[in-house]
Amino acid sequence: MAAYEYETHEYDVVVVGAGGAGLRATLGMAEQGLRTACVTKVFPTRSHTVAAQGGIAASLSNMGPDNWQWHMYDTVKGSDWLGDTDAMEYLAREAPKAVYELEHYGVPFSRTEEGKIYQRPFGGHTTEFGEGPAVQRTCAAADRTGHAILHTLYGQSLKNNAEFYIEYFAIDLIMSEDGQCQGVVCWKLDDGTMHIFNAKMVVLATGGYGRAFFSATSAHTCTGDGGGMVARAGLALQDMEFVQFHPTGIYGSGCLITEGARGEGGYLTNSEGERFMERYAPQYKDLAPRDYVSRSMTMEIREGRGVGEHGDHIHLNLAHLPAEALAERLPGISESAKIFAGVDVTKEPIPVLPTVHYNMGGIPTNYFGEVLNPTADNPTQVVPGLMAVGEAGCASVHGANRLGSNSLIDLVVFGRAAAIRAGKVVDRAAPVAVPNQASIDKAFDRFDYFRNAKGGTPTAELRLEMQKTMQSDAAVFRASESLKEGVEKMTEIAAKIPDLHVTDRSLVWNSDLMETLELTNLMPNAMATIVGAEARHESRGAHAHEDYSERDDENWRVHTISRVDGNKVDLTYRPVILDPLTTEDQGGISLKKIAPKARTF
Ligand SMILES: Cc1cc2nc3c(=O)[nH]c(=O)nc-3n(C[C@H](O)[C@H](O)[C@H](O)COP(=O)(O)OP(=O)(O)OC[C@H]3O[C@@H](n4cnc5c(N)ncnc54)[C@H](O)[C@@H]3O)c2cc1C
Repeated sequence: MAAYEYETHEYDVVVVGAGGAGLRATLGMAEQGLRTACVTKVFPTRSHTVAAQGGIAASLSNMGPDNWQWHMYDTVKGSDWLGDTDAMEYLAREAPKAVYELEHYGVPFSRTEEGKIYQRPFGGHTTEFGEGPAVQRTCAAADRTGHAILHTLYGQSLKNNAEFYIEYFAIDLIMSEDGQCQGVVCWKLDDGTMHIFNAKMVVLATGGYGRAFFSATSAHTCTGDGGGMVARAGLALQDMEFVQFHPTGIYGSGCLITEGARGEGGYLTNSEGERFMERYAPQYKDLAPRDYVSRSMTMEIREGRGVGEHGDHIHLNLAHLPAEALAERLPGISESAKIFAGVDVTKEPIPVLPTVHYNMGGIPTNYFGEVLNPTADNPTQVVPGLMAVGEAGCASVHGANRLGSNSLIDLVVFGRAAAIRAGKVVDRAAPVAVPNQASIDKAFDRFDYFRNAKGGTPTAELRLEMQKTMQSDAAVFRASESLKEGVEKMTEIAAKIPDLHVTDRSLVWNSDLMETLELTNLMPNAMATIVGAEARHESRGAHAHEDYSERDDENWRVHTISRVDGNKVDLTYRPVILDPLTTEDQGGISLKKIAPKARTF
């Protein structure tokens, strides 16, 4: 057994992650007087949320008629009828409240002439239950919305005496013999000391796992650590096969150009200069949802109408927009296009390509943020002491496809919901339970194994193999053959984890070891993704299967539940929650309205 000395910290709540979701949860917990620690591997304001550009959806009606029922309908349809109806209602109903709270906390939103929060159109957001024109629902702080939100929430959390443990890397959950989460084991990166955070409630807010793929818009830190910890604790991941490709990553670098660019009037063209989205989505054109636009772009390229020397990408045109509008509403992306594509957006189109952007799947939760451990008898069984929020979680509000600007609102609505719930279920007066020593020892043993790993496979090499396989075999379009091959390859790749080789044995700023631990977290996320995709014999949202091109509600309107053990994935399914929170006569949406139908735009 590996012997590591450690320091123990006791709290009511420990939040792992300081992105938008983690900070909103931390702030909410601290506001209620819960003793709260927030542990984060990067400085809070460097979390990936800082890169969110386009905005945050809420039916404020500042730019024209809108209501939460329309927002809910769009979210249901956007999810391709895989989201949980109670959670989607909660999201749409609570969204305006959550945005006004952000405003009052001090987020510097862009403003209309009358001083209201400015809102722009975004893909898939409509009026009249998908019958009316596109709506302006996405609240924005220019094209730096995530930046504004993150800085504001960090400041407010400090003001409310939340305690931050910065550049602490969470290694594993501490679980009691009877399945209760009791805390988390951490490694302090800058001095190599070890820490146990022992708490009544642990909130995972560790973000997505975009880096399981070769080309992603997400930060290098988005390595699915929460999903990895959960998988190792024998708990479930949900709907992992649904991976969003954003239509407009800059060709080559993968750097994001926000959908707000199309919201402000930008459009896509092929090698013939044709605005091809008019053919695929006659009503909403370039503002159809992301899965739809990404597939249309891929079809154009496949049919020989891609642009560039190799005909392998598409053009995004902004040059027709007034220069002042670009400078005021999209300053960040004008700069990105210059740096990463060498393009002056006022004169030339930007070369773009669908790029991995968001994970719809994650750790299953109810709409209070409580983690679920679904069984056949009890599909909504709660894991005591554990919550998950933000991109790491799966409530599930995005189902098979997330609408643009619905993630930032997911972070704050469910970060807030988790805090409200914790305020009710955490007993402030009770002592913190003594943590299970066997679980702590197991975490240190695993850590020590990789610290001293002397196998034959360098971490960077195995990571690249995984990323290339995922990129080619779990792509925008999928087919039985490539998925089968992908599962075989990934099973072999994941089997090499015990053979990793780490060169640096120190404990202080050992990035070799940290990246190795991150790879051990990416791997179960990637395995669940590709195995879940191979098994799902239908096309729904972001999962476009060439051999099963139709959605099959009778057999497949179910959540995939995966449990990963090494390179083995066990799949079961759980029902989608179909009932909303309120009925039509209580002001809710009518069930007829949200019944599944063909998804056209
Ligand atoms: C370029 C880009 C632009 C986007 N634009 C928009 C947009 O305009 N609108 C929208 O709605 N959505 C947008 N999205 C999606 C949205 O920004 C993300 O889904 C969201 O920010 C994720 O937030 P989070 O709080 O869940 O995680 P993150 O912001 O990724 O934060 C994760 C946190 O977890 C911590 N962490 C992770 N692992 C560990 C560990 N092992 N130990 C300790 N700490 C750990 C990290 O330090 C970090 O603080 C965009 C995404 C990208 C990549």
